[in-house]
Amino acid sequence: MTQASHDQLHRFIFDDSDIRGEIVTLAQSLSDAFAHQDYPAPIKQLLGEFLTATSLLSRTLKFDGSLTLQARGDGDLPLIMAEINHQKKVRCVAQVNTTEGLANRSLTSLLGKGVLSIIIDPDKGERYQGIVALEGENLSQCLETYFLQSEQLPTKIWLSSTSDNENAGVNVNKDIGGNIQTIASGLLLQKLPQQLASVEENEETWETQGHLASTVSNEELLTLDHKTLLTRLFHERGVRVFDAEPIAFSCSCSKERTNQTLIQLGQPTLQEIIEEEGEVLVDCHFCGFQYLYNDSDIKELFTPETQH
Ligand SMILES: [Zn+2]
Repeated sequence: MTQASHDQLHRFIFDDSDIRGEIVTLAQSLSDAFAHQDYPAPIKQLLGEFLTATSLLSRTLKFDGSLTLQARGDGDLPLIMAEINHQKKVRCVAQVNTTEGLANRSLTSLLGKGVLSIIIDPDKGERYQGIVALEGENLSQCLETYFLQSEQLPTKIWLSSTSDNENAGVNVNKDIGGNIQTIASGLLLQKLPQQLASVEENEETWETQGHLASTVSNEELLTLDHKTLLTRLFHERGVRVFDAEPIAFSCSCSKERTNQTLIQLGQPTLQEIIEEEGEVLVDCHFCGFQYLYNDSDIKELFTPETQH
């Protein structure tokens, strides 16, 4: 079994058609993203799906910035969020109210009454937020509906994620510490505006390739390297696979950003915390880094030299 495509995204196209595709597999990037949190296995699995979906959507990001897929609800899982930036750095976070009874539940059952949104946050410029209906059995169906309704681009998405080998029926990888490694993989096909082929030809390619892609098994998605899988699925039609784009975990939190967040909270609130706790501790939920401020650090935040 080759693992050549772990933590890689491959873009592909079919010759003479207006249909594009993407395939991604995440492994070490997930382990790194989970390293500071003890998430239950079903939540790791779902975070794997969210990060995979976010990676598949990253082409929507046409400028420097980040794309976030975020769901909030009133259920056992009040928040789940995955983010990718233009350098293909990923991070994720989930809040979960219980460790029991989470297995084999749908996204909607875990979230309860809630909203799924796609947030595009350019480094320069205005933030865009699209709301995705929480309809359908799973994340891929919700996203397919979103693309059809808001972008008018027919899209098919397959997601597969495993953090234990019982569900997936595959040989699960172990990391250096002997822990089971979550692996997640996804495949996307998207119909583009007509350009290279006639409407009829595109429709035929779409139907055929969509049908072939739907035969992909979880095992194939999770264990085969991308080129082998794409050749196996689409060998009858010329499929052109572009160079791999590596994906890695990295957190964009920083002292400067934490300073800004604290400044927004205001000096009286922070001074109150200092009086009660003796210090202000800010935890990054994405990477676990702790930013610690004492009394004089807080005072310094509000002195004219540091206020811009
Ligand atoms: Zn961080």
